[in-house]
Amino acid sequence: MDIKNNITNFSKELSKSDCKLVAVSKTKPIILLKEAYDAGQRIFGENKVQEMTEKHSELPDDVLWHMIGHLQRNKVKYIAPFVNLIHSVDSKRLLEEINKQAFKNDRIINVLLQMHIAEEETKFGLDKAELLELLYDIDLPEMKNIKIVGLMGMATFTDDQDQIRNEFRNLKIIFDEVANEDTPENVEMIELSMGMSGDYQIAIEEGSTLIRVGSAIFGSRN
Ligand SMILES: *Cc1c(COP(=O)(O)O)cnc(C)c1O
Repeated sequence: MDIKNNITNFSKELSKSDCKLVAVSKTKPIILLKEAYDAGQRIFGENKVQEMTEKHSELPDDVLWHMIGHLQRNKVKYIAPFVNLIHSVDSKRLLEEINKQAFKNDRIINVLLQMHIAEEETKFGLDKAELLELLYDIDLPEMKNIKIVGLMGMATFTDDQDQIRNEFRNLKIIFDEVANEDTPENVEMIELSMGMSGDYQIAIEEGSTLIRVGSAIFGSRN
């Protein structure tokens, strides 16, 4: 893979839109992240706490680290000092833990709520009713050290482009709806994280502001 060339091409492609690139570097060695960094990439996405913590210590401080994978509550403390955005929050208990650890670090941590939009069964992600329940939870306004800045979703793993488009479109509709709701001060719906290597073009057309791209930049993973 020509990482530098890939990053350059994505920057060109995205310069016409409001969408930013999260370079998903999970399982890839630090030398490849440095190549991407040298080509100008600053947002990196990882899905494991330990891997992200190690890589954080080896790259410059201006890298923005995004946690995109399922996050266990007992591991929040390891990334709380530096994480820039957590894409994968889908419970009140996890929100509370992030708030607690952010407070300890004297920070406000930005998070996205992960929505379940695919037809595949998974235990991760909220449906619309659960999203509204969280946004109107009586305890949310008191969580001063978190900020909910948007939603994240993953489309079904399928070749059916219409289905993928419909899933992204439905997520965007929910996003627009809650963006217009009267939510607490620590909720500001501005980011919509959707689209990966196989479907990012559709995601951009459907209103994504953050695409999470791994293999199209770094090559396939084992
Ligand atoms: C791995 C991963 C990606 C990137 O997948 P690619 O198909 O390699 O682009 C995006 N989002 C999440 C949540 C991931 O776990």
